[in-house]
Amino acid sequence: MRKVFIWTARIVAFIACLAALIWAVFLTMDMVSEHRIRAIAKRVPSAYVKVQSSTLVLDHVRVIDGTGAAPAEDQSIVIEAGKISYAGPRSKQPQIPEAKVLDLSGRTVLPGLVGMHEHLFMPAPSQSQQHLLVEQSTLFPLMYLAAGVTTIRTAGSIAPERDLAVKQKIDQGVAVGPEMFLTAPYLEGEPPTFPEMHGLANAQEARRAVDDWADRGMTSFKAYMNITSDELQEAVKAAHSHGLKITGHLCRVGFREAAELGIDNLEHGVLTDTEFYSKKQASICPDFRFFLSEYNTQLNISSPAVQNVISYLISHHVAITSTLAVMESEFGTSRPKEDLQRASQAMTWKAWRASRQRVEMVPHSRVDNLMRKEMDFERDFVKMGGTLLAGCDPTGDGSTLAGFGDQREVELLVGAGFTPVEAIRIATKNGADFLGIADRVGTVSAGKQADLIVVNGDPATNIPDIEKVEFVFQKGVGYDPVKLLDGIHGVVGLEN
Ligand SMILES: [Zn+2]
Repeated sequence: MRKVFIWTARIVAFIACLAALIWAVFLTMDMVSEHRIRAIAKRVPSAYVKVQSSTLVLDHVRVIDGTGAAPAEDQSIVIEAGKISYAGPRSKQPQIPEAKVLDLSGRTVLPGLVGMHEHLFMPAPSQSQQHLLVEQSTLFPLMYLAAGVTTIRTAGSIAPERDLAVKQKIDQGVAVGPEMFLTAPYLEGEPPTFPEMHGLANAQEARRAVDDWADRGMTSFKAYMNITSDELQEAVKAAHSHGLKITGHLCRVGFREAAELGIDNLEHGVLTDTEFYSKKQASICPDFRFFLSEYNTQLNISSPAVQNVISYLISHHVAITSTLAVMESEFGTSRPKEDLQRASQAMTWKAWRASRQRVEMVPHSRVDNLMRKEMDFERDFVKMGGTLLAGCDPTGDGSTLAGFGDQREVELLVGAGFTPVEAIRIATKNGADFLGIADRVGTVSAGKQADLIVVNGDPATNIPDIEKVEFVFQKGVGYDPVKLLDGIHGVVGLEN
C-alpha cells in the first residue's frame, strides 16, 4: 500500500514538473518574441538597405511594366534621384559614367505592388470564441515592403491614431514601409461584428464620423457588414463631399444597392454579395454559413442575375477588390505547402494554432467550388470592362499575412485565368489608377517614382517567381527583403 502511494506521488510530481517546464518554455518563447520586436522597432531605415546610389543602372533586365504589355527582354533601367530617368532597350540607354551598374541578367523588374486591401492588424490568438484583433503596425510595414508591396491602401482600422503615426514616420523617412493610404475606423452598423468596432447609431453619425476622420487625415473609408442603407448613403455623400472614396465589405446591403447609393469599390467579390440568397430579407445580414451553402450549389456566375449585377457595377464605375489569398486560406484546398510554411514560421505558436483552429471549423466539402465561382466572377467582371484591384486582407483567418498574401493573390489571379502580365497589371497599375497616383507609381516608365521589384526568374512564364524578391526599390532606395524579414520569425501575432 505504501509503495503504491510513493509511486503515485512520484508520478504526480513528475507530471507537475513537466507541465511547469512546458509552461516555462512558452513563457520564454513569448519573452524572446517580445525582445525581438523591441530590437526591430529600434532599427534605423539604413539597416535594411541593400543598394543606394545617386545614379543606379539595373542592367540586362526583363521588364514587366505593369500596363499589361508583353515583357521586354534585355532592358535597362536608370534610377536617378529616386526616379526612373530611363527605361528601355539597353542599346539605347544614355551612358552615365559615374553610375553604379548592377548586372541583373536572369532577373525581372516589375512595378512595386499596390495592395488595396491591407491592414496593420490581424486576428488575435484569442482563447475565447470571440474574434479579437491585434495591432501589427511594427512588423507588417516591413513584411509588405519585403514582399514588394510599395504602396498600400488599408481597408479599415482598429487603431487610427497609430496608423496615422506609422504613416507619418514612413513619410518622414524615419521608419521603413510602404507608402500608406489610410482608411478610417470601420463604418459599421449595430451590432458591430468585432468588439474593436464602433456601431453607428444612425445616418447622421455616419456623416459625422466621415467628416471627423477626413479632417484628421484619413483618405479612404470602409463600410462594414452591418451598415444600413441609410447610413451607407450618408457616408457615401460625406466621403464624396471631401473628394474621397469609400469601399465596403457589406452584408445587409447588396452590391446593386450599394452601387446605386454611389459606393466606389466593393471588397472580396461575389461571395460577400448577399443579394442572390433566396432567403435574403431587406436590411438583414444573413448567416454566411447558410448563404454560402446555397451559393455552393445554386449560384451560377453566367446566369442573367449575376451578369446583370456585373454590368450594373461597371456602369456605375464600381471597382472590385479581389482577395483570393484570404479566401484560399479560409476555404481553399489549393494552398501550396511552402506558402503555409512561411506563414507558420513567421507567426507565434499561439497565433498559428488559433488561425488553424478557425480554418478547421469551415466544412471543406464546398471550398474549391466557391473559390472557382469567385474566380469566374472576377474574370467576367474584367472581361466586361470592370476595374479589378488586388489585396491581401491579412485579417482573414487561416494565417494570411501582410505581403505574403499579396504575392499569393497575384498567383491566384493567374489561377483564375488571367495571364501573368494581366494579373500584375491588376496588382499594380489598377490600384495606382484607383488611388489617383498613376502619374508617379504603378508602372515602369521614365519619369515615374522608382518603386520597383527585382525578382530572380520570370513571372511572365512562371508566376510563383514573384516570390523570389531580391531587391525592393522604394523612391530609388534598394531594400533587402532578407534584412526586412530578419527577426520576424516566430513573432507575428504578438501585439507590436
Ligand atoms: Zn479586411
